[in-house]
Amino acid sequence: MDEREHTDTPNAQHIISPRVKETYDRLLNNFSVQETLEFIRGDNANTTEDQIKITEIPAPSFMEQQRGQYYKGRLRDLGLREVQIDAEGNVFAIRKGIGRGPTVFVSAHLDTVFPEGTSTTVNKIGERFYAPGISDDGRGLAVILALLRAFNEAKIETEGDIIFGATVGEEGLGDLRGAKAFFRAHPNMDGFISIEPGEPTRTTYLATGSHRYKVTYKGPGGHSFGEFGIPSAIHAVCRAVAMIADLEVPEYPKTTFTVGEIKGGTSVNTIAAEATMMIDLRSNSEVELRVLEQQVLARVEQAARQENARWKKNSLQVQIELVGNRPAGTQPADVRIVQAALASSQALGYVPELNEAQSTDSNVPISLGIPAITLGGGGAFGGTHTLDEFFEPTGAYCAVQRIFLTVLGLVGLHNATEPLLAHHAEM
Ligand SMILES: [Zn+2]
Repeated sequence: MDEREHTDTPNAQHIISPRVKETYDRLLNNFSVQETLEFIRGDNANTTEDQIKITEIPAPSFMEQQRGQYYKGRLRDLGLREVQIDAEGNVFAIRKGIGRGPTVFVSAHLDTVFPEGTSTTVNKIGERFYAPGISDDGRGLAVILALLRAFNEAKIETEGDIIFGATVGEEGLGDLRGAKAFFRAHPNMDGFISIEPGEPTRTTYLATGSHRYKVTYKGPGGHSFGEFGIPSAIHAVCRAVAMIADLEVPEYPKTTFTVGEIKGGTSVNTIAAEATMMIDLRSNSEVELRVLEQQVLARVEQAARQENARWKKNSLQVQIELVGNRPAGTQPADVRIVQAALASSQALGYVPELNEAQSTDSNVPISLGIPAITLGGGGAFGGTHTLDEFFEPTGAYCAVQRIFLTVLGLVGLHNATEPLLAHHAEM
């Protein structure tokens, strides 16, 4: 994909161990696996149809209820018993294996970045389907249903259990609230797969963390001429931004900052009583994220002190509010879940690929030490997070086949392969 001169990620092909390779050789030679792969290919149009239905039910972050209810019905209709909607709004149900194998949660996210009132009606132009959210994550949600149909169709018996489901609040200020709640309630989960827009080769295994702050300066405010000599909220914000702008951060692990928004003031001839800025801090390392955060917050406070000192007053105050907290995390590139994702991609004739760190639901389990990856849902797509978002289903089934093989390798096919995923604890 993109050209990288420096990279922390090793060559993907060399990571697959003989044990994992052997598992995938066996799976590929298994009759019911071959049948299932064929079934998935023939099911491509059904998956697109599901994707359209799901996309047309609006689901802004924090307003996922209607789509969640619909999804619950779909999971139930596909044979899952006791489909739950937890207190946060996550929807999921378990497909039991035959034994005491590991449990893996396979999930996509219900919410979209689009505000209430955005039309999500799908328009077909040529081979492309256009609608906000159709790829992110309408595709992932449809792929979950396709996987379930595939497991059912060939009556696949697994060693371990698979939880199929969907989370709330993955996007923006949703702040991964669904994934956080799920893993608080299921700390012994053995593995996690999130499905997001991407190629069938996509394997994301590193988590970019972010902390977001809303900082508000408040002062007395007054007439620009008549009250001259009092601290200004706008001047304080600008002092802070000037200091933040000069911060140095490491290139590796990648660590970034930006003041993304500034608002404030009343009129050109008013000393501003209030001004606010939104700060986004990110890193692939939790340690670097904390270091950066301390530096930024120190400057935010310093700016208030300087503005007060400038006018020998103490009337300006600063409020700091944490509005986003996504944990960062890393895991070795050769953990079994990553190997399974690479081997299944190779089994289908692709050159396996490791992607750079991103921010997805997988951040939560990775930060907790639970093996987790984010895989691509397939198809051609573009314009994600814009009103011109589209999806093109040609050949999209390849990614479903790949995720099917990944899941199957991890939980084990009864009478054929041992689970690749370790079973950590009794649930
Ligand atoms: Zn997404």
